[in-house]
Order: sequence, then C-alpha cells, then structure tokens
Amino acid sequence: MSLGSAHDRRQAAVRAAVGRGIVGDRHPVAGLLDVRGIRAAATALRTAFEEVGAPGTEVLHAFAVKASSLVPVLRLLADEGLGCEVAGPGELALARAAGVPPERTVLDSPAKTEAELREALALGIAVNADNRAELARLDRLVASAPTSSALGVRVNPQIGGGSIGAMSTATATSKFGVALRDEGARSWLVRAYQERPWLTRMHAHVGSQGCPPALMAEGVRVAYELAEEINEVVGRQQVVTMDIGGGLPVNFASDVVEPSYRDYARLLAATVPGLFDGRYGLVTEFGRSLLAKSGCVLARVEYTKSAGGRRIAVTHAGAQVATRTVFAPASWPLRVLAFDGAGRPLPDGDPVRQDVAGPCCFAGDLVAVDRPLPPLESGDHVALLDTGAYYFSNHFAYNSLPRPGVYGYVPAEDESDGIRFATVRTPQTLDELVAESGAAHAADLGALR
Ligand SMILES: *Cc1c(COP(=O)(O)O)cnc(C)c1O
Repeated sequence: MSLGSAHDRRQAAVRAAVGRGIVGDRHPVAGLLDVRGIRAAATALRTAFEEVGAPGTEVLHAFAVKASSLVPVLRLLADEGLGCEVAGPGELALARAAGVPPERTVLDSPAKTEAELREALALGIAVNADNRAELARLDRLVASAPTSSALGVRVNPQIGGGSIGAMSTATATSKFGVALRDEGARSWLVRAYQERPWLTRMHAHVGSQGCPPALMAEGVRVAYELAEEINEVVGRQQVVTMDIGGGLPVNFASDVVEPSYRDYARLLAATVPGLFDGRYGLVTEFGRSLLAKSGCVLARVEYTKSAGGRRIAVTHAGAQVATRTVFAPASWPLRVLAFDGAGRPLPDGDPVRQDVAGPCCFAGDLVAVDRPLPPLESGDHVALLDTGAYYFSNHFAYNSLPRPGVYGYVPAEDESDGIRFATVRTPQTLDELVAESGAAHAADLGALR
C-alpha cells in the first residue's frame, strides 16, 4: 500500500491505532490527525496567496484556534508559517503556550473584556474592535499606554448568509462587527478612522461552512471598498492591512478538497483585484479548511442491536466528540467508515441500513441514521471522517464522558505497522475529570447554612 494518499495513510493509521491499543477496551474512542495532510493544507494556503499577490506582499495566515484548540497543532502550524486568531483568554493562552509570537496573533471576539483588551495591547497582539462601544474602550486604553498592537474594526458587510444560519456571520442582523449597511454606519466608520490614525486595519469574516465562496469574496470586496474610501478621505494609506477572515467551506462528501485555497485565492483576485496589487498587507483566518480533512474520530462498536426493525450500532463516538452532527444532523452529515476488530476495512459489498449511535444517554445521540454500511458487529470500529476541525478538539462533557486522546500520525517505513504516532493530547483520566468537576469542594454546599 502506498501511503502517499490521505486515504491510504488513514487506513494504515486506523489499523495501527487498533493494533497498538490506542483505541481499545480501555480507551474506546480517540482522535487521529494526519500530520502530512495538515502540512500539505498549510502549504496549499501559503502557495495560493503567493500566486495571486504582488511580490513582497505581507500575508499573515492566522489559524482560527477554535477549530483545533490543541497546543501541538498550533505549534505544527506555526512551524508551517502560520499565526493564530484567538477569541478569548483561553485561546490566547493556547497560542502563547504554542510559542506563537504576539505579532502573529490576532484577537477577535464579540465580547472582549477590558482586562483582555489591556493584556492584548500590552503584549502587542493585533485587535479588531467588534463594535462602537469597544472602539470607545480602545480609545481610553490607547491613550493610557503605548502599544505596538495593530488595530482595526470588524465590519459586517451584510451581504446575506449561506445554507447554515448558525454559520452565517454577514446577515443583516448578525451579532458580529459594525453593520455596514445600517443607516449612518458607513459615514460613522469613515469618521471613526479619520479621527483615529492608529486604526490601520479593516476586518471582515463573512462566513463559514455553507457560505458559497462567491459570497465570501463579495464580502471582502465590500470591506475593501470601505478601506479605499477611508484612505481617499484621509488622503493617505491609513488602512494598510485587510483582514479577510476565514470560512472556506469543506467538502464533507468525499476525499476531494474543494473548493481549494487556489480556487478561492483566484476568485478573490478576480473579484477584488486591488487587494493584491501590493498596497495592502493581508491577514487570513482560516480554521475548518486547514484541519477538517486531516482528522478522524476512531471508535469501537460496543454492541449492536435492533429496534423496530432498525439495526443499531452502539459506538463510543457520539455527541461528546461530534456535537454539531448530533444536534444539527442535516447541516453536518459525516461519512462513516467501517472497520473490523483488527482495524481492517470491512468489505462494503452488502451494505445494511443502520443507525450509528453514540454512548450518550439521550435518544438523539446518533452520528448517522439509517445509513447503508457493512453490517457492524460488537468489537468492530467506525471512523468518522473529516472531523479534524471543531470535532474532537471541542469536547462536549455530557455524561462526564472523558475527553479522548488525540494522536498525530505519519507513515514510517521502520515501524512494523508502517505508522509512527505522536501524542497530541492524552486521554483525560477519571481523577482529572473528578477534580475539574469540583471534587475539592465536595463538602462546601452542605456547609452553607
Ligand atoms: C470561526 C472564525 C474563523 C474561522 O472560520 P472557519 O470557518 O473555521 O474557517 C475566522 N475568523 C473569525 C473571526 C471566526 O470567528
């Protein structure tokens, strides 16, 4: 088997993970990350923007940390030349733990506290103000202490949403950014920049999964035109950096990467040519598209049963690792692959319609419903594909199910099973779980009188 393709690497990694007990009776579910796939995605991103940008254009690709809040992943991406986009003190702490320098970190969040803003400015982290009140806070902070932070404002181009409402950030009533088409907003923004020479960035993050790339590019065009207008009114290039956000959708239906970063960069260059003529530095904030296709959840099938004529495989991968798929199955369908007790692919010759259920104690804990799959048996395994972003890195602690281990893999000829693993996150122990659930305060409620 050649391990040159992501598919072949994944098959070998599943086999090796089962063979070595990374997934087994003691740890019935784990997340697996294809390190080569992640590196390839980072390279594709860098290359795509190099191809369309004027030579010498400064581009910071800031990975949206919420898509994979795992320090070793952030470090790997930093080694590949990426920075971090953070949305709060936890994500900022992760980026710092990964060694990402402040000047390669961007803070966006709709609810930054004064303390967070002060820390960001002291560290020199770029900040995009979400709204008018936050800009007023920045006024005070900037006046009170010098900062090397690059500062901007997030605008909502209000160009409409995609197919998933919860992922659409540029609707008329979105909670994010300054709503650009609301009455008076545009002139207010122009004046806000005019009065604040330290506002040198413009930020828009138009959408995410379900948003067509043409809509995203249109949002970038609207933000770019505002920056151009501001620079014209001010009479110099005050806005020097455009932060165009992330949001490239991922194909969850097959192993094909589409749209590619190259597709999107070319679309952007065609839609907003002035963005790439060398006058603007660029920041991007991709998350899902960098990681999704390089990760899978691997879980044991504990039991199989049948109810009302429906065949059901009860596995260890449910809402705790596939939260969105379980709660919004129509928007987040996942491919499921079936493997035997040794991690070998089950022949898919005679598929049987089955539900693939998780371990959580609520009826809707299903990752696939009535799905034709090879007949699963107790001791087999299932892999949930394209789950490298947002899935196992954003654990949902229902039923106090412990956070599973996460492991990166690469092909290795000198290993007997052809795979080398590195631990990304150790499985949470029951002691850790009990401790974080207030064990130190066990008697405190009863002592309240
Ligand atoms: C979530 C988010 C991103 C990343 O979105 P993806 O769809 O994962 O690429 C980028 N920027 C901001 C401000 C975000 O909130």
